[in-house]
Amino acid sequence: MDAFSQEFAKRKFFEFYSNPYNPIPSPEAISQRELAFFLFRERIMVRHRSVANLNGLRRLIGDLQPSDIYYSCAYYENPEANMEKKGWLGADLVFDIDADHIPTSCDKIHDEWTCGKCSFNGRGPTPDICPACGSQKFDTKSWPCERCINSAKDETVKLVDMLEKDFGLSENDIHAFFSGHRGYHIHVETEAVRSLDAAARKEIVDYVYGLGLAGIHEGTNERRKKPADRFFSLHDFGWNKRIKLGMQKFILNATKEDLNAIGIKRTDPILQNKNAIANRYVEENRWSLAKGVGTETWIKLARHVKDLASANVDTVVTTDIHRLIRMNGTLHGKSGLLKVEFPLKHLADFDPFREAVAFKEGTVKVIVSSAPQFRLGESTFGPYTKQEVELPTAAAILLICKGRAEVVKS
Ligand SMILES: [Zn+2]
Ligand SMILES: [Zn+2]
Repeated sequence: MDAFSQEFAKRKFFEFYSNPYNPIPSPEAISQRELAFFLFRERIMVRHRSVANLNGLRRLIGDLQPSDIYYSCAYYENPEANMEKKGWLGADLVFDIDADHIPTSCDKIHDEWTCGKCSFNGRGPTPDICPACGSQKFDTKSWPCERCINSAKDETVKLVDMLEKDFGLSENDIHAFFSGHRGYHIHVETEAVRSLDAAARKEIVDYVYGLGLAGIHEGTNERRKKPADRFFSLHDFGWNKRIKLGMQKFILNATKEDLNAIGIKRTDPILQNKNAIANRYVEENRWSLAKGVGTETWIKLARHVKDLASANVDTVVTTDIHRLIRMNGTLHGKSGLLKVEFPLKHLADFDPFREAVAFKEGTVKVIVSSAPQFRLGESTFGPYTKQEVELPTAAAILLICKGRAEVVKS
């Protein structure tokens, strides 16, 4: 981002926060939270700040004019103290579901990464370490692509279903947010989760991923010859129930190719008897009744539907009991879109490109270096390559924040 465009974005962000029609909803117990701010020009994080209330937050925003605003998922006795002296009192349970961690068919089109050390580069999701030199520092170019954000939403739907049905959390304790960039955040704010340590949170993540499920991962040599129900069984709770429901759905819709793709070569016994297998044998745990479908096949089916049903969350975010996370109602420095809460029941039809738009007035002339086609509200823009255009402010800010456009100096 050139200095002029950066100054422009900084001013627009500050104007947004100064407008009384854009109030930031207070996080629960704001005075016990560590606050952190990322600064536009300096590109540094200012941490270990705290405020008594929202007025204090507004003053801090005025002083710092940040690009990003974060707060701790943790509650502290002394939020401003250094880490050892903060006095941890507990933390919300947070989940980050980000397109960065979900492979999609389009990520190779709009995402690029370049190693900061050796300049090796590639397209698609950024690797953990550079394949050429092993460095972990990358310059990345990603895009808040609608299809990618929808795949993050699909993961979020699965996560919420588990939190409600398997963990018994109430809809009132689960808060759903668009992250402001490429995914969703789920915050669980209830006394029952506050005191969970990192290990307990890791167990929750493992559950959500379906890691280490007994039965479907074990292998023995003798199971081939014995009746399937001696080696394979599923009960009717939690993951076992999820796998049963997933198997029924998968079997009813499966084609020969679908079955081949998961390593099942003898497909006729399943395809010729779909209804009985899906609706009776699976339902009633009668694994031996399906002729020609043995233990190995049941295990392949179970593993496949387990993969489909698991939710791809960012493990590091959930297990970090001191995590800083973007504050609801604040702008994302990489998009100019808002982190915004919405009712859980609207998750399936939530439209971030309508609900998270912050800058609703005026137009800006920009020179766009490159941008894929994108939509904001009802309007579609681009694709652009090296051209000057006059865009609604929200579209211009998005491109500026993504480093794909510069403001035309008038
Ligand atoms: Zn490298
Ligand atoms: Zn995409």
